[in-house]
Amino acid sequence: MTADPDCIFCRIVKGEIPCFRVYEDDDVLGFMDINPFNEGHALAIPKAHHPDLGAIPPELAGKVAAAAVRIGRAVGEVIRPDGMNLLQANGPAAGQSVFHFHIHIFPRVEGDNAHFNWEYRPGDMERIGALAEKIAAAVRRD
Ligand code: AMP
Ligand code: ZN
Repeated sequence: MTADPDCIFCRIVKGEIPCFRVYEDDDVLGFMDINPFNEGHALAIPKAHHPDLGAIPPELAGKVAAAAVRIGRAVGEVIRPDGMNLLQANGPAAGQSVFHFHIHIFPRVEGDNAHFNWEYRPGDMERIGALAEKIAAAVRRD
């Protein structure tokens, strides 16, 4: 599997950096964003390193999207947000900061004024960990 030793998400896939995992299959990993814009913010990534939509095989992007849908449903069940975006950024101008393809599961709160290039604020790790357990338990495979 392609990996980049300097890529933070590849290091998460390898287990070199911890994550709050909510989903895993052969090709895809899902985990909580540690700088959540709103509660329940999570990410779905391919295990293989592909920087962006220009590089990822479309079929693999489809698997990441399917996982994002499953995680999004689980986040919806646990958080009951007012709404939710699935977001995927390509290039710094689009707000991409980690150059390993990923889809944000981005819960929305009425009036949160979210915009594409939001600022990162570290979350409360205990709270994120507790939510991750609930979301992981709520992910359905059917
Ligand atoms: P983007 O700006 O679309 O590239 O999104 C990258 C996301 O990865 C941001 O929302 C970061 O908060 C998140 N992120 C960066 N490092 C980590 C990490 N070690 N664990 C979880 N999420 C991370
Ligand atoms: Zn990577």
